[in-house]
Amino acid sequence: MGFKTIDDVALAGKVVLTRVDINVPMEGGVVTDTTRIDKIVPTVEDIIARGGKVVLLAHLGRPKGKVVPEMSLKLVQPALEAALKRKVVFLERPSRAEIDALPQDSVVLVENTRFTPMEEANDPQMAQFLASLGDVFCNDAFSAAHRAHASTEGVARLLPSFAGRLMEEELRALDAALGNPARPLVAVVGGAKVSTKLDLLGNLIARVDHLVIGGGMANTFLAAQGIEVGKSLAERDMAETARTILTRARTAGCKIHLPIDVVVAREFKAHAPNETVPVGACPADAMILDAGPATVAELERIFAMCKTLIWNGPLGAFELEPFDAATVAAARSVAELTRAGKLVSVAGGGDTVAALNQAGVASSFTFISTAGGAFLEWMEGKELPGVAALQV
Ligand code: ADP
Ligand code: MG
Repeated sequence: MGFKTIDDVALAGKVVLTRVDINVPMEGGVVTDTTRIDKIVPTVEDIIARGGKVVLLAHLGRPKGKVVPEMSLKLVQPALEAALKRKVVFLERPSRAEIDALPQDSVVLVENTRFTPMEEANDPQMAQFLASLGDVFCNDAFSAAHRAHASTEGVARLLPSFAGRLMEEELRALDAALGNPARPLVAVVGGAKVSTKLDLLGNLIARVDHLVIGGGMANTFLAAQGIEVGKSLAERDMAETARTILTRARTAGCKIHLPIDVVVAREFKAHAPNETVPVGACPADAMILDAGPATVAELERIFAMCKTLIWNGPLGAFELEPFDAATVAAARSVAELTRAGKLVSVAGGGDTVAALNQAGVASSFTFISTAGGAFLEWMEGKELPGVAALQV
């Protein structure tokens, strides 16, 4: 994995354009969760400590190329100043002269990059303009790296570029999980549908030793093999695809694990009366909402055998108690093995992160990616333009 970091570039006296993800939730013009702002503090401080002048580039919301006052980064300035414990200069229309006139330890925040359609179009003129504002480019926004935009990809092609601390941490964790993992490597994939995760499954069977399939998508695989899944969420039209995946996995030496027992109910709601049955014994009028305890025990046995684990997608309808049981139990087992130093564990995905937080184990995983779309595209084996532009 060849990319430069803050450690590889001389920053003294330089203007460091720094792409960050401070796309924070807002209510009534006030930031309601500062997590993303707090996370960029080490990168900003590090650049200042090395004598660089920080010019922050970021987007907020989806203004679709227009100026939307409620999505002005000016609204984020107070929260940013609080997190950095220093003044931040906001520039609606930045110019190099204005930036040069500021003291060297300044932090500048430039207006929402998405206020012009040129950003998402990766317009060369916009990339040129941004590049003219700085001497070097630091990308610390992994979560925006799956999009080739002017402030993520275009500008990186025009200036000496390197990864910020957050980007560096994410890339190292992801490389340890799927790039150059300690083996055996197990992937856990769950969630609702096979159709949304085809590329992901295709990439994983070529790379992992064990693939655990859970959640609604397991039902599709079961049904494709002629196993009764009653009224479960299952994509019947994906049967052929599912069978192809099973065959290809066998050829690739990837062992697939499907549930061996399941929790079934007649209603899709919390606390619906339910029972645990062996797989294949789902009544015709019931639906599978979770994996059963025998499956969890089997997963614990697999996890204990492996050195690396990567996880996307809950094993059941985790939003509805008690159908979060398998996801929570499996997550706790991963957390325990990780704490004991026996397993490197990486997880990501919107619902997955929510489920791990619900299980109270997120902090025990080696790395939790909050990058959403960028994480999934990386798991699909796709090249992320914002990362590719940093490659040396
Ligand atoms: P992520 O956001 O982490 O990528 P997904 O969006 O793919 O995860 O999947 C999460 C959704 O899958 C949840 O809403 C969950 O309720 C649903 N799900 C998991 N198992 C089942 C099941 N057996 N039946 C119906 N829905 C399920
Ligand atoms: Mg989701």
